[in-house]
Amino acid sequence: MKPRYPQNMTFTEWRRTPLRTRHRLLGLMVNDYLRHWHTCADARCRRARSCQDYQCYWRRLQKMPFEEGQRLREAVKPLAKLLWIGCTMGAEGRQRY
Ligand SMILES: [Zn+2]
Repeated sequence: MKPRYPQNMTFTEWRRTPLRTRHRLLGLMVNDYLRHWHTCADARCRRARSCQDYQCYWRRLQKMPFEEGQRLREAVKPLAKLLWIGCTMGAEGRQRY
């Protein structure tokens, strides 16, 4: 299957997007992919039917039991990989999906 990039970007567009932006966009995509807004603690996300903040992912992860969190990380791995396309550094110190 061809990977899809956030905001319907092409591979080239995605590769040229700064890592910081990609990190944020990917977070939003992961939240949507998981339909996270259904159970998001933030009422704004539930109202908008989409998570408004990419940090929601980690907020949710923090509240989960460890095993469940591991399963979640496993599930988003294919998406998380997209972050590293075309980048060799600059990823240090960023929260992992
Ligand atoms: Zn949210």
